[in-house]
Amino acid sequence: MRFSALESLLARENTPVQTPSSRISDYFASQVFGKKAMQEFLPARIYKQVIQTIESGENLDRETADHIADAMRNWASSKGVTHYAHWFQPLTGRTAEKHDSFFTLDGQGAAIEEFRGEALVQQEPDGSSFPGGGLRSTFEARGYTAWDPSSPAFILEVGDDKTLCIPTIFVTYGGQSLDYKLPLLKSQSCLEKAAVKVCQLFDPAVQKVYATLGWEQEYFLIDEALYEARPDLRFTGRTLLGRSAPKGQQLDDHYFGSIPERAYAYMRDLEVECHKLGIPVRTRHNEVAPSQYELAPQYEEINVAVDHNQLLMDLMDRIARRHKLRVLLHEKPYANVNGSGKHNNWSIATDTGKNLLSPGKNPGKNLQFLTFFVNTIRAVYEHADLLRASIASASNDHRLGANEAPPAIISVFVGEALTKVLDAIEEGDSTEAEVNRVFSLLSKIPDLEKDNTDRNRTSPFAFTGNKFEIRMVGSTANCAGPMTIMNSIMGQQLENFYADVEALKAAGQSQQSAILQVIKRYIVESKPIRFEGDNYSDEWKEEAKSRGLNNFMTTPEALTAYATDKAKALFTSTKVLSEEELAAHLEVRLESYALQLQIESRILAEMVVNQVIPAAVRYQNSLAQNALQLKQLGLDETSYAAQKELLAELSEGISALKTKAYAMKQLRVKAGQLEAEEMAHTYCNEVKPLMDEIRAVSDQLEGLVDDQEWPFLKYREMMFMS
Ligand code: ADP
Ligand code: MG
Repeated sequence: MRFSALESLLARENTPVQTPSSRISDYFASQVFGKKAMQEFLPARIYKQVIQTIESGENLDRETADHIADAMRNWASSKGVTHYAHWFQPLTGRTAEKHDSFFTLDGQGAAIEEFRGEALVQQEPDGSSFPGGGLRSTFEARGYTAWDPSSPAFILEVGDDKTLCIPTIFVTYGGQSLDYKLPLLKSQSCLEKAAVKVCQLFDPAVQKVYATLGWEQEYFLIDEALYEARPDLRFTGRTLLGRSAPKGQQLDDHYFGSIPERAYAYMRDLEVECHKLGIPVRTRHNEVAPSQYELAPQYEEINVAVDHNQLLMDLMDRIARRHKLRVLLHEKPYANVNGSGKHNNWSIATDTGKNLLSPGKNPGKNLQFLTFFVNTIRAVYEHADLLRASIASASNDHRLGANEAPPAIISVFVGEALTKVLDAIEEGDSTEAEVNRVFSLLSKIPDLEKDNTDRNRTSPFAFTGNKFEIRMVGSTANCAGPMTIMNSIMGQQLENFYADVEALKAAGQSQQSAILQVIKRYIVESKPIRFEGDNYSDEWKEEAKSRGLNNFMTTPEALTAYATDKAKALFTSTKVLSEEELAAHLEVRLESYALQLQIESRILAEMVVNQVIPAAVRYQNSLAQNALQLKQLGLDETSYAAQKELLAELSEGISALKTKAYAMKQLRVKAGQLEAEEMAHTYCNEVKPLMDEIRAVSDQLEGLVDDQEWPFLKYREMMFMS
């Protein structure tokens, strides 16, 4: 496999990329049933009603749903679509589709094309194989989907096959959430409700507020043949074995270099497909590690941005195949080089066109900025552990705290200029004179939006001029996880803020000084979460500990945050998840963690027992034969002393691999009898260390065994694609 893969690599040719037009605007969102298509295919009266439903967030009534279904089908048929699918986001993190045909039989047995409103409002897919914690007992093994009208339907093309995809939420018969989407939508309405009230303290014209998200997706590319030749990559998304290449990323030449041609063709193709689907991707560049790249869009309203990122991951995969490539979205496909993250840039905007986290140029309005800015910090201080839990996964564990990615300790970076402002407020009093002093201080800050020079790259949660950049999110993650937490904790925080301000106002204080006083208190309370230094340093770990900040290094540890009374109170008071749903979500997360490690452990065992040990034995045989022959020829012992030493080293490695692989199997058997939480802990604390030991032995053997005998592609062969 290894050598034939390398031969196919040499014979590769570039796949030509066809751009529909030189102007993106000619085909942007052409495959999306958005406002333009709706206007064309819906009666004017219904169109207005639909837009209103979407904007108000109300439920669709059946009559409107029937009209939309009709219009959707006509639009899709005009583009050659024959099938539709409910497209949803189960808790496993990737998307799922349930396909159906427009084709049906009428009462007389004649074929007709039909698609009715009920397909949008309520549908029962066979959800029995999607994880749903304890929410779905066997007698009720079904879920329902319903269209989320805030996210438009779109056409997915796979080869010649075109499917109309309808973004849906996925719930149980009893209406409980079984997906990422419903909690996200609920968190949005929680944030919106609180934020509108707070905004109206400053500007009564604000009627609607929404969170914005701009993600940055990192990924690796690898040739298809190389990918197929590594069972670990195929089945787990990462290499479980492999010695580091002699040349890694030390020279930083990839980051600054030009994009290799094949990767470039892939990126262009991907961009075209993204644009057709209305995903506003804009930037592309190389990342730090060899064969690592990044893609980022223009930010959008949060739930559309989440859908777009899920869709993007799917497209990345499909389009890579056209180019005889595979995309590796795993957080750490290769040991000892940088892993991949997915920065989530998060902010809040109003229907009056204001970014609430933009300090802007009008100092008279800056108390509003400070309000939202300080409340975000206060919210993160309060719920840092939940935020950490939201991004915990078996794959992200490899990246966090690995001296290239943010540590597992959550802290907030705000930059020098804003630190000065916060310090000034903290030191001052809350009189009117002080309010004015702070305003004049703010007005002197040189254009904060441009002040990105002192960005701290090591912070997991950094203010970057007009938004917070959440950097600890893993590249495989569904953004909805951390974004649901951000919206919920901010919603709860803003409710508290509003109540605190109103209480002071009721006690006779002016609004401005009441706001300033509350902000001041929050600044003091949340100080432990602010950190401007080097997050990678050991001193920070010590310092964080003394500040009482948690450093959850593993997923099972991090997930305990979901089981606390504080988490229950947050989720139930914001109505984002019921206690039952929360428990189910936790169970699914623990189960997926254990499952992922179980698969890794099995593949690893197979690789070492069935391929590494036999390779080492073959090499041993040839050494032994060689030594024997030298001896028979009458040569003295020094002439085959090296062979004997190598033989001993090989024996040691073979025996260690065998012992450890068998021990690992015993552990898997033991883990298999445990409940989700215990099972996750067993995999984390017992199986994982053993996997690391096995890798170390195998990597040592890789350094010994005859190159011709080694069964797996080496790092140097996999990581440098030209
Ligand atoms: P950088 O200097 O890191 O490239 P950019 O301004 O280009 O900064 O932003 C990086 C990401 O942040 C992009 O995906 C962008 O869309 C997103 N972003 C910018 N402004 C906002 C905002 N107000 N809300 C959410 N995301 C934003
Ligand atoms: Mg960034």
